[in-house]
Amino acid sequence: MLHKIWCLIPKNISEELCSQKMPVLLEIRDFVDHLISIRERPPEPDDLPEKGAVIEVRRAGSITYRLEKVSCGKGCKGCPHGPYWYGYWREGGKTRSKYIGKNLRLK
Ligand SMILES: [Zn+2]
Repeated sequence: MLHKIWCLIPKNISEELCSQKMPVLLEIRDFVDHLISIRERPPEPDDLPEKGAVIEVRRAGSITYRLEKVSCGKGCKGCPHGPYWYGYWREGGKTRSKYIGKNLRLK
């Protein structure tokens, strides 16, 4: 039963971990926390795609939010639209984004 919980950990790593002493395990835990915090940090403003006008940038947790004015293309008399908030985060080495809307409600 116990093994089912750890099914994602490569066998050589779990075996190696089981044989470590407590101080080493504690250091490994800190190391893993560090690795996770790097992966989950929000994208740097410089990493984000160039857009028309960025009015405001905010960060919360692992997400960077940007308030942007949006141009939809040629021949539109209403351009630029918004401003609207977009959220950006990292996922598998890529920066993903999501439209949020006119209002940003951060907890
Ligand atoms: Zn437009």
